[in-house]
Amino acid sequence: MADWSPASWKSAEARQLPNYPDAAALDAATEQLGAFPPLVFAGEARNLTAELAQVAEGRAFLLQGGDCAESFAEFHPNNIRDTFRVILQMAVVLTFASKLPTVKLGRMAGQFAKPRSADTETIGGVELPSYRGDNVNDIAFTPEGRVPDPQRMIRAYSQSAATLNLLRAFAQGGYANLHQVHRWTHDFMGRSPWAQRYAEMADRIGEALDFMEACGINPETVPQLKGTDFYTSHEALLLPYEQALTRQDSLTGDWYDTSAHFLWIGDRTRFEGSAHVEFLRGIGNPIGMKCGPSLEPDALIRLLDTLNPGRVPGRMTLITRYGHDKIEAGLPRLVRAVQREGHPVVWSCDPMHGNVVKAANGYKTRPFERILAEVRGFFAVHRAEGSYAGGIHCEMTGQNVTECTGGAIDVTEQSLADRYHTHCDPRLNASQSLELAFLLAEMLNE
Ligand code: PEP
Ligand code: MN
Repeated sequence: MADWSPASWKSAEARQLPNYPDAAALDAATEQLGAFPPLVFAGEARNLTAELAQVAEGRAFLLQGGDCAESFAEFHPNNIRDTFRVILQMAVVLTFASKLPTVKLGRMAGQFAKPRSADTETIGGVELPSYRGDNVNDIAFTPEGRVPDPQRMIRAYSQSAATLNLLRAFAQGGYANLHQVHRWTHDFMGRSPWAQRYAEMADRIGEALDFMEACGINPETVPQLKGTDFYTSHEALLLPYEQALTRQDSLTGDWYDTSAHFLWIGDRTRFEGSAHVEFLRGIGNPIGMKCGPSLEPDALIRLLDTLNPGRVPGRMTLITRYGHDKIEAGLPRLVRAVQREGHPVVWSCDPMHGNVVKAANGYKTRPFERILAEVRGFFAVHRAEGSYAGGIHCEMTGQNVTECTGGAIDVTEQSLADRYHTHCDPRLNASQSLELAFLLAEMLNE
């Protein structure tokens, strides 16, 4: 790409980037990052593109999930394991029901930077810069804490490296072996009716594996049963960090952002001419773009022409996030434009970001039934338009948190205060995530 470089975004309009007070400190941190090893390998990103091409063609389903914002405080092997295993459970439910492979993509190992609707926040008459994620500043509401510190990028890198290392070990080292399907259930899910449904499904999978073995196929010799492919993703928001991890692939000469397999552009930074669009158009990774109600069909097509001029299947995932009451009116216009232009895309549903409400007691929450309603609307639109509803994007955790209301083990507005731990948006807990997977599986079968 002749007119692109890892730094060419600097001459475009950048929104949502921190103002680092000390330019020399920023240079020192990005120089340090630039000498660190890549977190992922270009060949892995290409494999993911190939898997997403299968999704674009309707032959697989995409499951993308994890924290809204990873944090330094919640960094713990148990948290990584618990989110990983709920994603595995959800994937098994989806694959068992749909008979399609599920592409597993974590919002993990790098999902730190957050776009904010306002630059500052006022509490008790005190106005301070907004929290922008642990790789930028501190969530603590103090003047020192809110100053952007470039050294936080170094810490985010090392946390991402350790997280990714554990995820790779879980995915290939035995934990994700399909024989373990029963063990992925969390103890605290016992009360959920969906835990029972899951146990029944796990029994049937176990029987199928036993049957295969009796026929002479040793599941231990089948890589797809012994382990799984698990990919990482985050919003490519903090461009100095992303640039420092962008490297030229020795095999192809192409540039890859090696901070994750998949990067996406947020709804607030996907405007035409944006620095974020400029950066992402030049990297070889598969990329996502959030599509909210303000995106016009013509602009979407121009953005697709910029981001995927070669129309490579699997390159582009459109993550729609309208809100339960807007999706059926808004989404068809985008689908029709994309179909008319023949752009190959994966359509994925983010039923989280358009459904945030403030509870009476002040907590930011998302009602489970609205999340479900948006997913239903998403399937209805794609069915009506003859396009493929290819994926789901959710904010979830393996922890037993109380951040979204509703679900089979009802989280009420009153109980939100019990275990509300998120550093940004409310997440589905493990039971709600499994429930969503079962309800989604029913929709995939309709
Ligand atoms: C997010 O995914 O956390 C996010 C900020 O989403 P959006 O860009 O869709 O608002
Ligand atoms: Mn979020």
